[in-house]
Amino acid sequence: MAPTPLIAGNWKMNGLLKELGELQTLAEAAGAGLNQGRDILICPPATMLSASFGILGNHVAVGGQDCHSAESGAHTGDISAAMLKDVGARYVIVGHSERRADHGESDELVRAKAEAAMAAGLIAVICIGETEAERDADATIDVLARQLASSLPDDMDGNRVVVAYEPVWAIGTGKTPTADDVRHIHDFIRRTLVERFGDAGNGVRILYGGSVKPGNAAELLAIDNVDGALVGGASLKASDFIAICQAS
Ligand code: PGA
Repeated sequence: MAPTPLIAGNWKMNGLLKELGELQTLAEAAGAGLNQGRDILICPPATMLSASFGILGNHVAVGGQDCHSAESGAHTGDISAAMLKDVGARYVIVGHSERRADHGESDELVRAKAEAAMAAGLIAVICIGETEAERDADATIDVLARQLASSLPDDMDGNRVVVAYEPVWAIGTGKTPTADDVRHIHDFIRRTLVERFGDAGNGVRILYGGSVKPGNAAELLAIDNVDGALVGGASLKASDFIAICQAS
């Protein structure tokens, strides 16, 4: 049986409390049935998590955009998985390419963060994806194989981990891979998960992310082994994000 699709919004470093109205609109749509047959997730900035949870309640899950690999301690400015859970988060994104690039996060650190998230009872959304230079060098599959081998915990299943394929060159650029490329890559990711985790690998949702918009969501979400989307820019406006949810 195909896993329940997950449509996830990543607000990145956008959003002030005055933007909570967008989440109110989303909560109302979810309450009216938008969340039937699909899981919906919003990852606002940490400053908005508590208020977002208050608005979205049980209809739409909230998640963090990152967590530290340690349980607690002397890590000024960081947030632990337990803290995210404490304010209502059910998910956390780890290994987003912007964190890998801006903060030099390695595959091993991403894996440690995913393990910390799972230990705290959160579902880890583990991001992988090749850069434009890697794609141009025909290294996409090699890069993804390395990221999958080193960023994924050994002990995982579809209830605790989601994999998001996000080609770095497609993020925020309006460019997307062809449907054939997405099919080929998601098929590769699925095979890799099943080889390593057996049947549990079939239950792991594989999201596509990178310039998902209302206009291309239906085509992307119809591709085999695309079990949802990780949406950046288009998740900031409730009407766009609702349209993407409806395309799944
Ligand atoms: P985008 O971002 O939808 O704005 O391209 C996707 C992401 O980085 O998760």
